[in-house]
Amino acid sequence: MTTAHGGPDASLPVALRTEALEQLLTERGLIDPAVVNGLIATYETNVGPLNGAKVVARAWTDPEYRRRLLDDGTAAIAELGFSGPQGEHIVVVENTPTTHHVVVCTLCSCYPWPVLGLPPSWYKDPAYRARVVKEPRAVLSEMGLELGDDVRITVHDSTSEVRWLVLPERPAGTGHLTEEQLVPLVTRDAMVGVARVAAP
Ligand code: FE
Repeated sequence: MTTAHGGPDASLPVALRTEALEQLLTERGLIDPAVVNGLIATYETNVGPLNGAKVVARAWTDPEYRRRLLDDGTAAIAELGFSGPQGEHIVVVENTPTTHHVVVCTLCSCYPWPVLGLPPSWYKDPAYRARVVKEPRAVLSEMGLELGDDVRITVHDSTSEVRWLVLPERPAGTGHLTEEQLVPLVTRDAMVGVARVAAP
């Protein structure tokens, strides 16, 4: 359970290590398990990619909002009521037919919680974190996103200072859809930059 230096055995599954850590912190009176459970429930149910989808749909339908979003992501996102931990400094980058942005946290799993909720497991996977920087085109292809050689790929490293959000391309043939109708089309993966938004 413990190693020579007294820390948890790094080979144990993350969930088990987290549980041990939570138990230790609770025993020492440093955290209240009820508060921890409440925080997890909030991010699992109330905060999630739907918030980000609303931001994207607004940007697609309101050019002034899009401009504000690209100028100051944090402020424009707060206009829609989304803010909070891990969202203090969000920078939004726009995908175009010739420029593709994709986000990673090479160090751990930094992620813009207020707009995307908690990160998926593949985002935390050491293989994704290491490889997407070195060979983004290959990693994206493996994830089902084929980009032509004429598309320039930029990889953004989210940190505790800056968290990146991708404004995906609005799919062709959606010109007649309203902002509300566009929201359900926008996926989490498209806002991380590992997928495109598909037309309905
Ligand atoms: Fe991180």
